[in-house]
Amino acid sequence: MNKTALEQWRNKAGAWVQRGLDQRLRLAVTGLSRSGKTAFITSLVNQLEHAGIDARLPHWPPAAEGRLLGIKRVPSRHHHVPAFGYEAALAQLAGTPPAWPEPTRGISEITLAIRYQPGNALKRRLKDTATLYLELVDYPGEWLLDLPLLDLSYAQWSEQQRRLLDNPELARLARPWLEAGAAVAADAPAEDARLARLAADYSRWLLDIRREAGAYLVQPGRFILPGEYQGAPMLEFVPWVWGQVPAGLGEQHHYGMMEARFEHYKKHLVAGFYREFFAGFDRQIVLVDCLSALNRGPDSVADLGRALSAIMQSFEYGQSGWWRRLFAPRIDKLLFAATKADHLTPDQHGRLSRLLGALVRGGHRRARLAGIDIQTLALASIRATTSGEVSHQGERIPALQGHRLADGQPVTLYPGEVPEGLPEADFWQRQGFDFTEFAPPRWQQDAPLPHLRLDQALAFLLGDKLS
Ligand code: GDP
Repeated sequence: MNKTALEQWRNKAGAWVQRGLDQRLRLAVTGLSRSGKTAFITSLVNQLEHAGIDARLPHWPPAAEGRLLGIKRVPSRHHHVPAFGYEAALAQLAGTPPAWPEPTRGISEITLAIRYQPGNALKRRLKDTATLYLELVDYPGEWLLDLPLLDLSYAQWSEQQRRLLDNPELARLARPWLEAGAAVAADAPAEDARLARLAADYSRWLLDIRREAGAYLVQPGRFILPGEYQGAPMLEFVPWVWGQVPAGLGEQHHYGMMEARFEHYKKHLVAGFYREFFAGFDRQIVLVDCLSALNRGPDSVADLGRALSAIMQSFEYGQSGWWRRLFAPRIDKLLFAATKADHLTPDQHGRLSRLLGALVRGGHRRARLAGIDIQTLALASIRATTSGEVSHQGERIPALQGHRLADGQPVTLYPGEVPEGLPEADFWQRQGFDFTEFAPPRWQQDAPLPHLRLDQALAFLLGDKLS
C-alpha cells in the first residue's frame, strides 16, 4: 500500500471506529403533573454542564474517574418537537426571589453531546474520545394513562367512567357536566358548540377531581394536558352516562358524533403518540411524587397506585396485543424515581424508595419478563433544604432547614416518617402527613444546582453507554 492509500485507509478506519463509538440515546422523562419533570430535566442538564468541573456526581463513574471531556447543548434532530425551555427554567431559579420553573404542559426535547474518554481498555485502544448524543424528551405521564383506552369501545369506556360516579365525592364534583349532559338528547342532531361546552365542563371535572379529591387516574389524559391539540374537535366528547341509547346512531347525532371522536382520539392521539414518540425511546424515567399523595390521604395513595399500574402497562410488552398492533418497543431500562426527597430527613430516603417500589411492584414483574431492567430510587432534582440535627427535650433529632414556599419564611422542622411499604389503615389513624412545600434554594447561576442522587440516576440510565 503506498503512503496516500495507507493514509486514506487510516482515515476511513478512523471514521468507521468513530461512528461505532459515537452513539445516540433517547431518554424519555415522564410522570404525572407536578411530579417534578421540569425540575429534573433542568437539573440533569445543569449537572451535565458542570460535570467534571464542579458538579457533585461521585456515583457516576465517568465523572468520578475524570473521563468527561466536554458536554454541550446541540440542536435537536427533531425539528417538529418544541425545545425544552432550559434557559427560561434557569432564569426563574436564579431570580430574586428564586422561583420554581414552569411545569411541563406538552412534549419537548433537549439534546446534549457528551464527549468522553472510554473507560473500557479495548474501546480506548481504538479511539481516545467518543461522543454520546443524549436526547432528553419530556412528556406528560397523563398521556400514558390513555393506553388502556385502545382496548375499549366508546360504550365500554362510558360504562367505566359511569362507575366512577358511584363515589359520592366524585359525583358531587361532576354535577355541572352531569346536568348539562342530561339536557343533550343522544339522537338529536349533533351541535358542535353544545358538545364543546359539555366537554369543557367534563375537563374541568377531571381537573377538580385531581385537585380536590386527590385522584390521579384521570382519562382521557389529553383533556387535562392537550399539548398542541387544545380546542381540536377530537377532544370534544364526554362519556355517555345518561342511560340507554337507540341503536345505529350515526355522526349526525350527538351520541354518534361523540363515539366517532372517541375513536379518532384513540387512533390519532393515543396510538399516534406511541407510534411517533414512544417507539423511539431507548430508556425511560418515571418520576413520582409520593409525598403529595401521602399528604392527601389513603384514597389518594390508592389512586396513585392505580395510576402507576396504568402507566406500567406501557412497559409490559408481550402482555397484550397493543404492541404487535403498534410497533416493536425497545426500552431496555426503566427507572422509577420518587422525587422531592429533600422534603424528608436522610434517614427516611430508603423508606420513600421502598414505598414507591411497593406501589409499582405488580407491574415490575411483568415488565421484567419483557426484558426491561428496572430500578427504584429516591432523589431530589433541586435540593431546597439542608439536613442536620436539632435538640429536642435533651435528645438529638434529625431536622430540615429551608424556606417555606407559601411565605418565603425560614423554617426548621422534622417532617415525620414515611411508611415502610403501603400504609395500612391503622397507620393513617396513628399519623397524618403534612409535608411543607419549600421555595427553591438560593442559588448562584454559575454554580451547579444542589441535588440528591441524580448521579445514581445517571449511573443507572447512562452507565453502560459511557463505559
Ligand atoms: P412537572 O409538572 O412534572 O413538570 O413538575 P415540576 O418540575 O414543575 O415540579 C412541580 C413542583 O414540585 C415544583 O414547582 C416544586 O414546587 C416541586 N419540586 C419539583 N422538584 C423538586 C425538588 O427536587 N425539591 C423540592 N423541594 N421541590 C421540588
